Amino acid sequence: MAALIKSDIAIVGAGIAGICAAVRAAREGLKVVLIESFPYIGGMATGALVSPFMPHHVKGKPLVAGVFEELKNGMRARKGMIDNGFSADVFRDVAMDLLQDAGVKLMTDAACIEVHRDTVRLSGIDVLRKGEILRIAAEQFIDASGDAVLACLADAPCEISKKQQAMTVFFHMKNVDFARALNYVRDEPNNFFPWSSKLYDPSRIVSVAGYLSEVREAHKQDRLSDAVDYVFYCSLPEPGKASFNCVNLLGYDGTRRADLQKACTEGRSQIADIVRLLKNGVPGFERAELDKVADRVGVRETRRVTGDYVMTGEDIRSCRKFEDAVVRGCYGIDIHGQKDEDDVMEDIPEGEYYEMPKRALIVREVENLLAAGRCMSATREAHAALRIMPTCAGMGEAAGRIAAKAVLEHKTLREI
Ligand SMILES: Cc1cc2nc3c(=O)[nH]c(=O)nc-3n(C[C@H](O)[C@H](O)[C@H](O)COP(=O)(O)OP(=O)(O)OC[C@H]3O[C@@H](n4cnc5c(N)ncnc54)[C@H](O)[C@@H]3O)c2cc1C
Repeated sequence: MAALIKSDIAIVGAGIAGICAAVRAAREGLKVVLIESFPYIGGMATGALVSPFMPHHVKGKPLVAGVFEELKNGMRARKGMIDNGFSADVFRDVAMDLLQDAGVKLMTDAACIEVHRDTVRLSGIDVLRKGEILRIAAEQFIDASGDAVLACLADAPCEISKKQQAMTVFFHMKNVDFARALNYVRDEPNNFFPWSSKLYDPSRIVSVAGYLSEVREAHKQDRLSDAVDYVFYCSLPEPGKASFNCVNLLGYDGTRRADLQKACTEGRSQIADIVRLLKNGVPGFERAELDKVADRVGVRETRRVTGDYVMTGEDIRSCRKFEDAVVRGCYGIDIHGQKDEDDVMEDIPEGEYYEMPKRALIVREVENLLAAGRCMSATREAHAALRIMPTCAGMGEAAGRIAAKAVLEHKTLREI
């Protein structure tokens, strides 16, 4: 017989969405348990080393505030964040403090492996923790697993794209001479993408994408995988450090363990090639060294739930507003293409934003299940805009608040 833990709200996944959901719900005075299969919190933001936060301001005002704002302020106070770039370690520390202060019961190394569903309601989930199975009973559940694990195990409607976006293994380099690196970018603009940062100030967070001639040459000489199209890095708050987002892993399915393992191996091989390319005379990288490789593959897209409302690409393009809006975003449709598809970057008009309705957070056919973050209810196109960390944080906080209201007011999610 599995040991039983009773809670008001159970949340699966301690990425940015699950963290914000848990903090918000626990602050309403409820018992909240947050379950995470990895030994640490943060999901993609820490384990995959994803940084910086993508744009979430309109006319200088943030579209996502709340717990996300506290997380950013906490990181800035500890010198772990400059502009929109942050350190994964500091993210982990600040998020842990927020969870502890709110009184969330955090269970790491704990994988949700089964869901108990009684017609339209979930009654509990089973969690495997170090060989022991624990049953967690709750009134409300939030799927913040990134992969819609809870919804999938509950047999609730989900969708998985035939094509998933390319994956990446992030890595960091240290001892980068940014002054030299940025002079090179300024002197050779045609060797870089126009969206490279025009800030030639090494004390700020800069992003640089290109090195197109070096990449072409390396392809010709078979020194670099053809999957790598360009080199892209953003600087980090730690002086001399850069975070690289250019390993390009194609043809893998992020819901399959075997694919993730293969992607990890291919990612490490691409990293070795990219580091060699940079150290081979690229200005600013002469003394640079590989500092850190992410310990999990960066997975952009897997399974998505089907909610009472499904966000569409048209909602993003037309900057649609909803009466029951709970989240706002301004990031455009950004698809990292597979083998036989082009990359897409479709911005929305400057100064505009779109909204996401409460209905999109409620999983169809189930009474007490919300979904937030990467596994949100959206078409592939809309997902490609909504998947960024600030919007995932906003969805998480909204889901936490809605779940808490349902418990406190003895209402169903749809009545809130
Ligand atoms: C390569 C890449 C580059 C990106 N670049 C940017 C960027 O520059 N800026 C930006 O803002 N966003 C970026 N993103 C998007 C962003 O990082 C993610 O979409 C976001 O962090 C997702 O947060 P989440 O909380 O929804 O999910 P995740 O961070 O994936 O967290 C889900 C958590 O659930 C846990 N989990 C899963 N299954 C179970 C289970 N059965 N039991 C218990 N726990 C479970 C996982 O271990 C994980 O920790 C990028 C993403 C990738 C992959």
